[in-house]
Amino acid sequence: MLMFDRRDWEMRVAGAGCSVCSPTFAATDQGRVALLPSGPAVLQDDAAFRGYCILYFRRHVVELTELTAAERHILADDLARLAAAVQACCRPTKLNYASLGNEVPHLHWHVIPRYPDDGWWGRPIWLRPACEKRPLPPAEYAHLRDQLRRVLETS
Ligand SMILES: [Zn+2]
Repeated sequence: MLMFDRRDWEMRVAGAGCSVCSPTFAATDQGRVALLPSGPAVLQDDAAFRGYCILYFRRHVVELTELTAAERHILADDLARLAAAVQACCRPTKLNYASLGNEVPHLHWHVIPRYPDDGWWGRPIWLRPACEKRPLPPAEYAHLRDQLRRVLETS
């Protein structure tokens, strides 16, 4: 279990050292499938949950409650659009949606396709030990990223 360090947490909540706000994150578009009105959507490299994407909000906020009503509506639309693209490209049995933020306190949403043979069906993916995570073959990852980009460009 991670120990809670209040000072470190408060600095990160304020945005100090935020990995999502860093210039490196903005410059990296390797896994980016779209820059949606609410922020960038990034494909994760995970073979068990093929098509798993994270949508990061475009500015540093921690909680959904910090958004204006207009921002919440845009975010909900973008989440649905991203989910539809994942459905179209990957045909999952179910989608999971999650926003945790107690590791990276910058508002982001996980869109996780679930498959009966993903190894964790019926359970949250965070129960999977990190050592069990496997990447997709590089060519398959690139193909899926491009496929998602195309679907999002036309949706
Ligand atoms: Zn941030």
